[in-house]
Amino acid sequence: QQEDIAYFGTVGAVARDKDGNLAAATSTGGMTNKRWGRIGDSPLIGAGTYADNQTCAVSATGSGEYFIRAVVAHEICARVRLSKVSAAEAARDVIHGKLKDIGGDGGVIVVDRNGELSLEFNTDGMFRGARDSRGRDLLIGRVARQVAAEVAGLHVLVFGLERAQLVASAVLGRIERLVSKLQQPC
Ligand code: ASP
Repeated sequence: QQEDIAYFGTVGAVARDKDGNLAAATSTGGMTNKRWGRIGDSPLIGAGTYADNQTCAVSATGSGEYFIRAVVAHEICARVRLSKVSAAEAARDVIHGKLKDIGGDGGVIVVDRNGELSLEFNTDGMFRGARDSRGRDLLIGRVARQVAAEVAGLHVLVFGLERAQLVASAVLGRIERLVSKLQQPC
């Protein structure tokens, strides 16, 4: 039962296509016991989701209020653009530094303009996985095998594909359809 519940969380995708276009998409049901009308970070561009061809694409999951305050996704891209640090370094510093320092828990998936991948989190775990255009699993994290099994609730990180935006939304669309099939109507 507990295991099943874990799969109904936020899903996100980032992608890079063969021309270097970057895209990010995030979908969430929000936080447990959230207030009516609450808007989390996931739909806020710059907070939980951001993509910029000059730097990287970021999708986030975690305590949204803190991601909004730290403008996490944009902060990672801005550090790459302005400080010339790598996206992986920027993600690590923001997730374990700026975000953690204000009390925020969660993580991000990132693909940068060169196709370098990063999956950073300050929580015990984050379901995650990555594939390339030939269907190879590139990074296998905790239960990431389930990417192949198409189980919802994973962060899917994709790169090297023809059309990044289509891929990101197709991945999310597929996962969302699975989630709605699995979830009880409320
Ligand atoms: N970030 C989401 C929100 O605050 C929740 C989550 O990722 O689990 O709405």
